[in-house]
Amino acid sequence: MNDTIAGFKQGRLDRRMPAQYLLRFDDLCPTASRAKFQRFMPMMQEFRIKPILAVVPDNRDQELMVSPHDFEFWSEMRAMESAGATVAIHGFQHVCRSRGKALLPVNRPTEFAGIPEELQRQWICAGLKILRAHGLNPRLWVAPRHGFDHVTLRVLKSQGIKFISDGLARVPFVRGGVTWIPQQLWEPVERKGGLWTICLHSNTADDAAIERLYRFVRQHACQFTSFDDVCAEYSFSELRVSERIYECLATVRLRASRQKQDLLRLMRMTKGHRV
Ligand SMILES: [Zn+2]
Repeated sequence: MNDTIAGFKQGRLDRRMPAQYLLRFDDLCPTASRAKFQRFMPMMQEFRIKPILAVVPDNRDQELMVSPHDFEFWSEMRAMESAGATVAIHGFQHVCRSRGKALLPVNRPTEFAGIPEELQRQWICAGLKILRAHGLNPRLWVAPRHGFDHVTLRVLKSQGIKFISDGLARVPFVRGGVTWIPQQLWEPVERKGGLWTICLHSNTADDAAIERLYRFVRQHACQFTSFDDVCAEYSFSELRVSERIYECLATVRLRASRQKQDLLRLMRMTKGHRV
């Protein structure tokens, strides 16, 4: 076992080892733009990237209805999974109406946080059933807008989903009976150590963002890993105190930046009404 693994095993950051990166695509569903998603394929093929595919089982979110229904969507997901990608269940219908408090308090409303257990169970079971009926093998949970609570984790565990992609620590960790693979970035950023998941939204990514990602992947190709490799190489435990402190500070920073964005959006809307 090398030092990287030993460091992560202890739930703390080992600064001596280079950072690793995971790519995650969110909001995948038959009405997402196939053309926009396809823009990433040459890069993934060239560098043999095995991403996490966060698939919405039964999308009802108007914002994700940007293209006519793609009848090849499910077969493309199956093909990517066969090639090493990992499928995640991304909520159920992606409709965020609950004001309940999430474990990661960065967004409201959300789809799952605060929803009664029985309903969460129904949604998760129905979502898993849909994905499996399409021949996929969901192994991870990705919550729309980071919105989930202890109830969600309990239901996921009872349904055999033992991993989630979320949290702002720099290393994977165990909490609430499941393993958290952190997701902290929305664009490529160089880091000195730790495991970093870069979340991408293919529907809205512009060409410049894709070019930046391509340059980053080319420069750091050997540092990209996959969900399977993370599971095979790391042994998971609860976070050490030092990493919990980092996580708390990162959560406060993200929450403040989201609130600032919301405020700016509100100010723009108000200004628009006055004109
Ligand atoms: Zn989403």
